Amino acid sequence: MTKIRTRYAPSPTGKMHVGNLRTALYAYLIAKHEGGDFILRIEDTDQERFVEGATEIIYNTMRDTGLKHDEGPDIGGPVGPYVQSDRQKQGIYMEYAKKLIDKGEAYYCFCDQERLNSLKREVNGEEIMTYDKHCLHLSKEEVEANLKAGKPFVIRQNNPTEGKTTFHDEIYGDISVDNSELDDMVLIKSDGFPTYNFANVVDDHLQQITHVVRGNEYLSSSPKYNRLYDAFGWKVPVYVHCPTITNEEHKKLSKRSGHSSYQDLIDQGFVSEAVVNFVALLGWSPENNQEIFSLDELVKEFNYKNISKSPAVFDMVKLKWMNGEYIKAMDFDKFYEMAEPYIKKVITKDLDLKKIAAMVKTRIEIFPDIEGHIDFFETLPEYDPQMYVHKKMKTNLETSLKVLKDVLPILEAQEDYSNDALYAALSEYVSKEGVKTGFVMWPIRTAVSGKQMTPAGATEIMEVLGKEESIRRIKKGIELLEAQQ
Ligand code: GLU
Repeated sequence: MTKIRTRYAPSPTGKMHVGNLRTALYAYLIAKHEGGDFILRIEDTDQERFVEGATEIIYNTMRDTGLKHDEGPDIGGPVGPYVQSDRQKQGIYMEYAKKLIDKGEAYYCFCDQERLNSLKREVNGEEIMTYDKHCLHLSKEEVEANLKAGKPFVIRQNNPTEGKTTFHDEIYGDISVDNSELDDMVLIKSDGFPTYNFANVVDDHLQQITHVVRGNEYLSSSPKYNRLYDAFGWKVPVYVHCPTITNEEHKKLSKRSGHSSYQDLIDQGFVSEAVVNFVALLGWSPENNQEIFSLDELVKEFNYKNISKSPAVFDMVKLKWMNGEYIKAMDFDKFYEMAEPYIKKVITKDLDLKKIAAMVKTRIEIFPDIEGHIDFFETLPEYDPQMYVHKKMKTNLETSLKVLKDVLPILEAQEDYSNDALYAALSEYVSKEGVKTGFVMWPIRTAVSGKQMTPAGATEIMEVLGKEESIRRIKKGIELLEAQQ
C-alpha cells in the first residue's frame, strides 16, 4: 500500500479562516489516522493577493493547534521546495506546461486584454468569459515569431468541447460535467507564474499527494484538474472536498461576525484545543455521539467517509459550551496563566488572585466571562436591599439586619480569616440560634458581595477580602438595612 500523504496548501493572504483551519485539520487527521505524512506547502503564486506576515500567521496557527507537519518550507523534506514561488524560480511549472504543449494539451495564447474583453458575455447577470481557442489555431511559425518578438503570452489548457468529464469525490460522489463547459483555463500567467489551477496539480503529483483535501469551492474546477492529470498520464488523487461553513443564519461566515478566523476566536477568549475540537465537528461526526475529542482522539476516530456534504453551521453557543468544558478540565496552573490578565483587568487591589481564579474556573465559558463574576471583589456595587429577601432561606429585611448585627462582633473578634476558621465561627452562631446555615450565610454573602450570584460562598469571599474590608461591607449592609426600617 502506498503511504498516505496529504497537504495543507494555504495562500498567504491574511488571517487563517475557520474554513482553512478545518481543511488543515482534516488533511492532518486523514494522514495521521493512517500513519501517513502531512505536508505544508505555501501557495504564493498570486503575487497580488500576497499579504506581508501571513506566512507567519500560518506557522503560528499550525504550531498552536498542534497540527505538526512532516515536511514544509521551515523544516524541508525530500520533495521541496515547499513554497510555490521558489518552485517557479526553478522553472518547474514552465517545464510541465511545455510538456503539455508538446502533447497538444496546452497552447500559447497571445490575445490582448481588448480581445479577451470582447469575448465577455452576461449570463444570469454575471459576466463570464469563455475563451474561443483563437490562438490554438496559430501556426507553429506564428507562435515562434510571437515568442521571438517578446509578445506577452499565457499558456492555456486545451480542453475538448464535446463529451463529458466525470470525476469522483469522496464526499460528493461522482460528478459529471459537459466538456463544453470547460473553459481553456490559463495555466501559466503572463507574469510567468502558474495559476493555482495548474500549480496545484503539478505540485500534488510531484509531492506524491495521495489525498487532496480542500473546500468545496474547488469542486467545480476539479474536472479541469482531472483532465490535466490524464493529459500527463498521472494518477488522480483521492478528492475530499469539504462542505461550506455557514453562520447561525445559514449565511456564509463573514469577516465581521467575529467567528471567521482562528485568531479572532483566540482573541475572544477561546482555548485553542476547544477551537480545534469544534472545527473538527464542522462537517464531520463520529459514529457515536462523543463531542469532546483531544487531537489524539480525533486522529484515532477520524474517518473522512463520515464527512457530510450538507453545510456545517458554526454554532457559537456550542463553541462556548465546549470551551467551558475545556476550561473545567484544564490543569489549574495553565488556567491561571490564561485567566490572570482577565482578572487583573478588574482587580487592582492586593488580593489572592489564585483563589479568585479557582472560584471561577468551573463557572465560565470564555475568559472574558471572568470579569462579571469577580468585579465585586474590587468594589462593592450599589445593591438593592430586596436582595436580602430569600424565600427558601426564610430571610427578610428584619432577619437579615439581626443576623448582620449579631455576627459583626464575632467577625470583629475573629483573627483567623481563613475560610475554615470563619466557617467554624459562624457555624457556632448558627447552632446557638438553632437556625439553618443559609439563614445566616445568605445575608452575609449579600453584604460582602452586593450580588445575587457569586462564584463562592460567604466565608470564601471574606477570606479573599480580608478582615478589614469584610467588616466594612457588613457595616454597610447594616446601614442599608437600617435605612429600610
Ligand atoms: N491555496 C489554496 C487556498 O488557499 C489551496 C486550495 C487547496 O487546498 O488546494 O485556497
